[in-house]
Amino acid sequence: MPNDIASLILALTVSMCTMAVALPAVMGQVNAAARRAQVGVCMQALGWVLLLVSSMVAGGSWTDRLLSTLSMAGIAGGLALNATAFNLWCGRSPSARMPAVVAVVLTVGYALGFSSYAFRVSWANGLLALQMTMVAVTLARKPLVPVGGWRWLLVLALAAQVVVTAWRGALAAFDTMAFPSFMAPHPINLLFALVANATAVLSLIGILLAHRDEAARALERLATLDGMTGVLNRRAWLAHAGVELANAARYGHRLGVLLIDIDHFKEVNDSRGHEAGDHALQFFARALQSACRSGDLVCRYGGEEFCVLMNRADLLSTQAFDRRIRAYLAEAAPREIGYPLNYSAGIAVSSASDDTLDAMLRRADVALYSAKALGRGCTLDAEALHMSAT
Ligand code: GH3
Ligand code: MG
Ligand code: MG
Repeated sequence: MPNDIASLILALTVSMCTMAVALPAVMGQVNAAARRAQVGVCMQALGWVLLLVSSMVAGGSWTDRLLSTLSMAGIAGGLALNATAFNLWCGRSPSARMPAVVAVVLTVGYALGFSSYAFRVSWANGLLALQMTMVAVTLARKPLVPVGGWRWLLVLALAAQVVVTAWRGALAAFDTMAFPSFMAPHPINLLFALVANATAVLSLIGILLAHRDEAARALERLATLDGMTGVLNRRAWLAHAGVELANAARYGHRLGVLLIDIDHFKEVNDSRGHEAGDHALQFFARALQSACRSGDLVCRYGGEEFCVLMNRADLLSTQAFDRRIRAYLAEAAPREIGYPLNYSAGIAVSSASDDTLDAMLRRADVALYSAKALGRGCTLDAEALHMSAT
């Protein structure tokens, strides 16, 4: 079988260009991560096209220097941009400062030292290998969101690419005669071209899987969170709270439910407009969430009603939470939304091991109803109500 490096590099360039066109076409409306990945692939495709074109002009000419340097900028810059997409897909900030710095240093050094073949080829391959190592190491770090196997696919592809690229750089530096040109049929150069083709395929799969993972996470967010306030919706809260109640019964601890209804909220809408009402609900949800400990669950129960599940809480700690929220609202509402906001609430604390969420919510609702009847702006607990009624 003939070892035709030129055909392999041409195939790689065609694959990269196909990816650059196909990704935006099949991914449709995309977010920041996917857009960065798409632009990154376009830059790399352009880099490979320029590298091919540069091999057709007079070697060592100014055109060769310009095209080859732009090609390095495209390949290294595209990889740095792809690294920012991978960061976003792993739930981190997009910043990939070191790969970007390497891309700049690589391009500038390459342009300056272009007249020496041994220098420019070893410089470019060495720094590309370094850049790919950085991206692979970042991808191997534990992601902050659930991420599928695609990152290991990319780590594997990058690791293979690092080895052959670094080897190619070392050949250019220390055994220039064995690797005297870009298309030289050296076994490592052949391996490089083969691995680069395989990496392009794996990158395509990786990018599509990462995008699918993110779409699945977005769907899950939509299904479990309230779109306006960002806290759990009622259905998701009921499911989580049911599990917490079962655990509380099994391990013998208690939990509290605080059912909240904002007072005279209709007046907020009527006098300040629906948008101000929405803003107040968002502020209220933030206040509840910031007062929670880890393990507590806040949900928008419906309209201007919220519900908080306090994990490992008895009556006293649920009442303490209620007082904290009231103190915070009194201080922060005028500052943040420009007018006071108050609420009525009912507390139910799990009693026996066979207590159910439905029963607790019913007790909390009765207590809330009584708090409204008492004139609003207060919290009653179901237990005390029950005792005073008997
Ligand atoms: P009460 O003290 O008895 O609870 O009085 P209220 O006005 O809060 O109660 P009511 O049930 O009469 O009104 C609830 C209001 O909450 C009416 C409804 O327009 C408003 N509301 C419900 N959901 C939203 C929302 O998503 N955005 C806005 N702006 N208002 C909402
Ligand atoms: Mg209501
Ligand atoms: Mg209300």
